[in-house]
Amino acid sequence: LPASTDVVVIGGGGAGFAAAITAANEGKNVVLLEKMGVFGGDTALSGGEMAAPGNWIQVQEGIADSPDALAKDMLDGGDNAGDPALVQIIAEGALDSSQWLTFEGGISWKHDLMQFGGHNTKRSIIPITHSGSEMTTKLTKRAGEIDTLTLAKNTPAVELVKSGDAITGVKVKNSVTGAESTIACKAVVLASGGFGSNIDMRVKYNPAMDDSILSTDSVGATGDGITMGEAAGANLIDMQYIQTYPVCDPETGSLLYVGDVRLESRAIMVNKEGDRFVEELDRRDVLSNAIVEQTDGKAYMLFNQSNADETGLLVTHEDEYENLEARKVIVKGDTLEAACEPFGVDAAELAKTVEKWNQYCKDGNDPDFNFRGDFNAIEDGPYYLMAYKPAVHYTMGGLHINTDAQVLDDAEMPIAGLYAAGEVAGHKMGTNRLGSCSMSDIYTFGRIAGKNAAAFTA
Ligand code: ADP
Repeated sequence: LPASTDVVVIGGGGAGFAAAITAANEGKNVVLLEKMGVFGGDTALSGGEMAAPGNWIQVQEGIADSPDALAKDMLDGGDNAGDPALVQIIAEGALDSSQWLTFEGGISWKHDLMQFGGHNTKRSIIPITHSGSEMTTKLTKRAGEIDTLTLAKNTPAVELVKSGDAITGVKVKNSVTGAESTIACKAVVLASGGFGSNIDMRVKYNPAMDDSILSTDSVGATGDGITMGEAAGANLIDMQYIQTYPVCDPETGSLLYVGDVRLESRAIMVNKEGDRFVEELDRRDVLSNAIVEQTDGKAYMLFNQSNADETGLLVTHEDEYENLEARKVIVKGDTLEAACEPFGVDAAELAKTVEKWNQYCKDGNDPDFNFRGDFNAIEDGPYYLMAYKPAVHYTMGGLHINTDAQVLDDAEMPIAGLYAAGEVAGHKMGTNRLGSCSMSDIYTFGRIAGKNAAAFTA
């Protein structure tokens, strides 16, 4: 590791790579620190879908959309608790960030769109491998090609060094050798992600988020940047807002990507009694709260072979599917009875629910829950039934930032030389983040933080 550099970026997920590559492209020397043995963070674990209003697929399909429409959905979806100015930056920057990923990062996209819960239109583009690792592996490769950018794995930042009011360095510890050192620098970008895997911190800010709830997050998501930032004088905001993702493995907490059939409007959600109980495309918090009220705190997703084939998801997520099938978290049956039997789900009632649903699909109208997506009937078998429950997924709170990605102190004044981007920064998603908005956020604010940190060192 160099003893000094211009910019240190803490965290090697999407926000960190966007910041580091941007700062290097501005002509600066940059060190990117990653505490784990692999780069990628929660970004790599995500589906990588990105809300990008006005994107090329929408244009080809004649879908009208705008940054303002996304901003409205994001604000509404978070009960208007987010900062409209930060949300506007994300909404207006999203399409440009997707182009940056394409041209700077070499990321390819599927010719398909998804409509996530709480979004009023289909606007989310999908990486070709349908995984955020498409982004992080390619950005890691791109960053590795830049001579002025040093990538350091197994190297957690442990403290921000300040002299007077200014940030002057970062203390690091090599997690393999235990060796400690300090890198002197002129600016720091905190991009260390959220705190979904830190149960003490979850409970400190939101007592309901205790160890009875599993997590979808990487073990690295322990809020280090929030803790280090606070020690350096940063204001924390919205810390109590912690999101659970509704469709997670009941045994491990992993987010179930096979369940994305729902987001292509090709599945229904039922309870053990075989009844629908919520609109499948409602917000994550609405779904999660509804699921925990059902028998055993679980829900079941039903789809059939032809709908699954339309999405290709059982092939895209073949490893996940096989694992779930082996553990009977998902059951395939030629009949509804066969799919229901291992779970004890009421097959007779489910058959009635499906019959009703198929009629709603013909009518193009769901009088029970007002389904907002495309209507696709569930006709013939084989059928798939998958059990799931919510798990902690995303922390909406974090470091208080302004639209220039500067970290603010308790008096809302920028801390000189300190920037933050991505999940570590709060007050963008309000009480509840909508799906696919994180990618729009991390690459937009990551690039802003990298650019402004570089300018600060001039
Ligand atoms: P974002 O989506 O905001 O980019 P991610 O979770 O994808 O967030 O990435 C955050 C990265 O930061 C993870 O790879 C995580 O391991 C890393 N990280 C967390 N704490 C530290 C730390 N103290 N020092 C270095 N890296 C860290």
